[in-house]
Amino acid sequence: MTYLLDALQARVGEFVSLRRDIHRHPELAFEEHRTSALVADKLEGWGYTVHRGLGGTGVVGTLQRGRGTRRLGLRADMDALPIEEASGADWRSQRPGLMHACGHDGHTAMLLAAARHLAEQGRFDGTLNLIFQPAEEGGGGALRMMADGLFEHHPCDAVFAMHNMPGIPQGRLVFREGAAMASSDYATITLTGTGGHGALPQHAADPVVAAASLVMALQTVVSRNVDPLQAAVVTVGALNAGRANNVIPASATLELSVRALDREVRALLEKRIKALAQAQAESFGVHARVDWRAGYAVLVNTPAETAFAREVALELLGPGQVTLQGPPLTGSEDFAFMLERVPGSYLFIGNGDAPGNCMVHHPGYDFNDDNIAIGSAYWVKLAERFLGEEGPPARQ
Ligand SMILES: [Zn+2]
Ligand SMILES: [Zn+2]
Repeated sequence: MTYLLDALQARVGEFVSLRRDIHRHPELAFEEHRTSALVADKLEGWGYTVHRGLGGTGVVGTLQRGRGTRRLGLRADMDALPIEEASGADWRSQRPGLMHACGHDGHTAMLLAAARHLAEQGRFDGTLNLIFQPAEEGGGGALRMMADGLFEHHPCDAVFAMHNMPGIPQGRLVFREGAAMASSDYATITLTGTGGHGALPQHAADPVVAAASLVMALQTVVSRNVDPLQAAVVTVGALNAGRANNVIPASATLELSVRALDREVRALLEKRIKALAQAQAESFGVHARVDWRAGYAVLVNTPAETAFAREVALELLGPGQVTLQGPPLTGSEDFAFMLERVPGSYLFIGNGDAPGNCMVHHPGYDFNDDNIAIGSAYWVKLAERFLGEEGPPARQ
């Protein structure tokens, strides 16, 4: 299947330039005005029907061919991060304190390269929806697009997305059926006692001792409550109390990051953390308030769509460049919300494993432009197969 790769490689220069242009002009969540306009203008120029402003700065480009009733969604993300770039690249960020440190510039460029090829030469029968979402980095742009009627305006039978990953050989495609990325929830626990003189603890109710005990007790949620064969993370990332050695403060706060790869484990973590906070507080004579904020859901790749996506990758690259079942990650991703509504699959494309290759969110990170041809060829082939005569996987 080198024809498709060759065709996309032949005009990759245009999309490398475009990727670097987006890289020079990073924009934070829901502020992707320039990027979003650039994407929408390109899609319109290639003949797509374009829906702008979905979920704030989101864009959907739709292309319909033939009489086929199948509908496919492919998603890329567009937002950057509040990090000062240290990559030293010629195309480094021109905006101080902001950079594309997660490769969303590359994801956008790969999907645009596929968009152009599909518009000009794509053989398919059905409806192609290219979804460019804002605010993947914590802002929940996928949810905002869905709240704005993404799947009502643009129904999809399946959705797919791709993220680059440093540390994996460049261009390798890594799939996983089932839970692939963790849910990510946040909790603030405030312990309120009675402040007093450090020399007279008998007249106080000390929230510091209660907080110290609670930090240790929370470790038992993972070790004693969660099935040892399941994954879970409870991190107390911040513990704040007091300002002086001889003063017992009136309150202490704990900030938690809580992750799971299973919906039931996720619910168990919330239940046990809340119960422990209350019981520990009571045992020390202080009061606990738990503010729980649900973040991204567990990302679950459905079996039939993952099997289909693997087949496409194997045909494109052969078994040497494809991992059929990679390990799950404790990071999170808001494509999980789209997968709660529509079946589909999310994969990783290796960003390279050379020494000095930086992880995403590192100031020295950069997207690997050699992936643009491979990533876009994968999208083209996936679209042509899903909306083609060979047909998608059978679903009941
Ligand atoms: Zn990121
Ligand atoms: Zn990312």
